[in-house]
Amino acid sequence: MSTERPLIEVRDLVKHFPVRGGVLRRTVAQVKAVDGVSFDIRRGETLGLVGESGCGKTTTGRAILRLEQATAGSVTFDGTDVLRAPARTIKALRRDMQIVFQDPYASLDPRITIGESIAEGLEIHRIGTRATRVDMVREVLGKVGLHPSSMARFPHEFSGGQRQRIGIARALVLNPKLIVCDEPVSALDVSIQSQVLNLLRALQAEFGLTYLFIAHNLSVVEHISNRVGVMYLGKLVELADRRELFRRPRHPYTRALISAIPVANPEHRRERIILQGDVPSPINPPGGCRFHPRCWMAQEICRTVEPAFTQRAPGHWSACHFADDVT
Ligand code: SF4
Repeated sequence: MSTERPLIEVRDLVKHFPVRGGVLRRTVAQVKAVDGVSFDIRRGETLGLVGESGCGKTTTGRAILRLEQATAGSVTFDGTDVLRAPARTIKALRRDMQIVFQDPYASLDPRITIGESIAEGLEIHRIGTRATRVDMVREVLGKVGLHPSSMARFPHEFSGGQRQRIGIARALVLNPKLIVCDEPVSALDVSIQSQVLNLLRALQAEFGLTYLFIAHNLSVVEHISNRVGVMYLGKLVELADRRELFRRPRHPYTRALISAIPVANPEHRRERIILQGDVPSPINPPGGCRFHPRCWMAQEICRTVEPAFTQRAPGHWSACHFADDVT
């Protein structure tokens, strides 16, 4: 096992959003979007982060990049304390830590050309001259599979898949170490999804990139991740090597997510586990194990004692009192 320090170390990360009410707009409750999450991302790997909508995965990604101010915890990026770093350091870090959004159209200014849009980051970080920036934009467009002449066109002239390539180009042009991919293929057709996933994989191999890949669908992360973390209601409930997670899940929630993945071969069809009820409110999560109201394995202890997130096998972490009994 590598002893190299991970690129990212997240410890006990918490992000609560205040809920305001009354005439004075006082804080009346807290949305516990992320409620004590810890993990590492190794250099050059892809860590998939999955869970239903509202589980806190996107907020985790944004807090790591300090696009959201965390409530507590720590994030160390390449030895730098991200959450406590001064603004000047954060500006420099932003070059190394990029994000690709689910909806690239929303992040592209419709009034400026793609070339200008991609060059924006270079200008902000004072990289190159006007002429060399044009060369860099041209080169990065080629890397993401778009013709260099695309730089003179506007966002509305591109398809969804092409726009996502532009989103990737905007991140890539800064030569980052980490890219947070926030549901980058969720809005795309299945055939386009695999093209974008293949592109991300090829760029990772070429540039040694590290990805935090956020998705609500386990089948998407299955093909791109080295390791997978599963989140539920603001907590990480399982984390393991991708193959190990799919072969031997140690949390009932992961087991249910795996059962929902369509299988082409009828001989390998899995029994589908339908979870009862909705995800509870993150304002007032259930006591004990947060998953217990929906868990078919729940016992009395699950209602009162929160299971610790512990290592059940080498590199395989789970927050379940009965992790070894999940089948
Ligand atoms: Fe289910 Fe109990 Fe495990 Fe929670 S701790 S996942 S309720 S068995």
